[in-house]
Amino acid sequence: MRIDLHAHTCVSDGTDTPSELVRAAVAAGLDVVAITDHDTSAGWDEAVATAHDAGIGLVRGMEISTRFRGRGVHLLGYLPDPTHPGLLAELRSVLDGRDARVPGMVERLRGLGLDVTVEGVRRLAGPTAAVGRPHVADALVAAGYVASRGEAFDRYLSPGRAAYASRAAADLETMLAALAAAGGVGVIAHPWGRHDPGVLDHDGLAHLAGLGLVGIEVDHQDHDPASRAELREIAGALDLVVTGSSDYHGLGKVDHDLGCNLTAPEELERLLDAAAAAARAAGRDVPAMIWPRPEL
Ligand code: AMP
Ligand code: ZN
Ligand code: FE
Ligand code: FE
Repeated sequence: MRIDLHAHTCVSDGTDTPSELVRAAVAAGLDVVAITDHDTSAGWDEAVATAHDAGIGLVRGMEISTRFRGRGVHLLGYLPDPTHPGLLAELRSVLDGRDARVPGMVERLRGLGLDVTVEGVRRLAGPTAAVGRPHVADALVAAGYVASRGEAFDRYLSPGRAAYASRAAADLETMLAALAAAGGVGVIAHPWGRHDPGVLDHDGLAHLAGLGLVGIEVDHQDHDPASRAELREIAGALDLVVTGSSDYHGLGKVDHDLGCNLTAPEELERLLDAAAAAARAAGRDVPAMIWPRPEL
């Protein structure tokens, strides 16, 4: 079983449509893929329909922008009821924060003499529900100022660069509670990606496990072998599910091909069991996962 539980579409900052993601997952030889756009479930219906036809398992998820003890943390939320009012309200404020910061970033770039506009960014962002720095990067690429999203981040958009702007994020502890109320489960995405452990050291993760965190994404391109080994040990000690995933963004991010990291089948089973328990506790009765054929 080849299982990849973290992938983006053009509903956030990936470049494939949800249907294209599902078909790309089939082409990559995956048995199960998760759709995890930033802060939205807007791509789920299309992905579900295509997964039924394409013969692949689909886990519905989202990657939620949160803050914990002063640091930005990405929380993968799997299988919540996307219509739950509490969850929706939290996501709405994050999405509003995404919209609100675009003019500021554009203003800073214009201050550097770069001719980009808010309208241009929005045009390139297309139908996305979650506009982000990658779309500002696309505007810089389209204008010929940089060759790639990566170069745009390195020169202008990463923290510490001239056009960086922070944005609203949900409180991680509040979000874990909202996810649970919506019958979903949380997994911390790339906990040590591009950072030291910081607030997500053993004690921080133990605290979050006590609040209902179900797992951590151990195998991710941003983690070196030593980090992976150490995180696996912490997960074992805290009885957390271990996932491995690509964080695929289509053409939007190099070195994140579908299936480049995988989740073990028994870990997916633990995740689905936890989601089923969360749904029961929340009084919901929905299938935990979309399978291509009922007999699977
Ligand atoms: P935002 O959501 O607006 O804060 O932007 C963060 C997104 O930008 C994440 O989903 C990353 O995948 C993406 N990102 C961060 N650094 C880079 C990079 N160097 N090249 C391409 N995408 C990046
Ligand atoms: Zn992204
Ligand atoms: Fe992330
Ligand atoms: Fe991601």
